[in-house]
Amino acid sequence: MLKALNLENINKSYGSIQALRDINLTISDGEFFSLLGPSGSGKTTCLKVIAGFEAPDEGSVVIFDQEVTNIPPFKRQVNTVFQDYALFPHMNVRQNVGYSLKVQKLKGPSIEKSIDEILEIVNLTGYDFRKPSELSGGQRQRVALARALVNKPKILLLDEPLGALDLKLREKMQIELKNIQRQFKITFIYVTHDQQEALSMSDRIAVFNDGKIEQVDTPANIYSKPINSFVADFIGTTSIFDKVSAMNLFNLDSAFSVRPENVLIFDKEKDLIGINKNEYFIANGTVIDCQFQGSHLKITFSTDANSKLSAFKSLEGNINQIYDVNSKHLIAWKRSDITILNE
Ligand code: ADP
Ligand code: MG
Repeated sequence: MLKALNLENINKSYGSIQALRDINLTISDGEFFSLLGPSGSGKTTCLKVIAGFEAPDEGSVVIFDQEVTNIPPFKRQVNTVFQDYALFPHMNVRQNVGYSLKVQKLKGPSIEKSIDEILEIVNLTGYDFRKPSELSGGQRQRVALARALVNKPKILLLDEPLGALDLKLREKMQIELKNIQRQFKITFIYVTHDQQEALSMSDRIAVFNDGKIEQVDTPANIYSKPINSFVADFIGTTSIFDKVSAMNLFNLDSAFSVRPENVLIFDKEKDLIGINKNEYFIANGTVIDCQFQGSHLKITFSTDANSKLSAFKSLEGNINQIYDVNSKHLIAWKRSDITILNE
């Protein structure tokens, strides 16, 4: 598999803040790869190091087998869609999109044709002569995308490109971005703090925490096999039992997590009759919250070991079901459904 990007032992500090710690990462050609993590975890800095806007203190950046660590941004086969789009306010859509082609001193009909083609792909045909201030947020986002794609970079870097859009538009653009990526067959490196977005769009994800990469894997593995409690907690709704609770409640010698969709709720001891107790962990739970979430309820329990645990209960057939706060239940999940966490 052709390598699009290789980061080796990248370290980067701003004064006393270590923004990137020993980053090692290999991304294949054509991958949709996400950098996912909370605000301040180093995602933008990592993107800037790849693009060449920041130089690492240590380490090397290799793009398609070419060492580019000391090569300026415009000589890398990489374009960036910035978080705030950074459109030129005085230029219209065509001028914004054509800017990089003009800078490369390309001239004449081939430029105009490239602009027409890309405007069609991002659904902006007819908006050619509007200024950014005359466009909606979603349209500005498309201009930024068109401008970054028009000179056919081999890698496109996107820094929270949908962050400013409302939920409906964001979901629509997620699908469009995926389609564009398939169509262009280029490598996307996508920064987001939104785990749902990363899980639904990516081929692989790197989870960032405090300048480090905690885990690199497919969305399914990141979700179902988080490597530690940071990843388990950050990705989706999960309940974590620390080592002490795990020992007290289940005589288990390590922390673990369990997903709410794997938790069963029983009202009384005798309702457990149908399940094989050797296969399950069973605990007492007191309801501390019950939320309606459309297709299901999300019920949060406190357990005997002071751990909290969430469960989803499908509402199929009984949409008026509720769990009263302070009511007591038995909660159970399969031993095979837990994820052991290395702290
Ligand atoms: P993210 O994109 O994940 O939110 P950033 O890469 O922007 O995180 O920032 C990582 C850390 O580096 C943060 O603590 C941030 O405050 C710090 N940082 C980023 N850019 C600068 C800068 N130009 N000067 C000083 N500190 C910075
Ligand atoms: Mg950022």
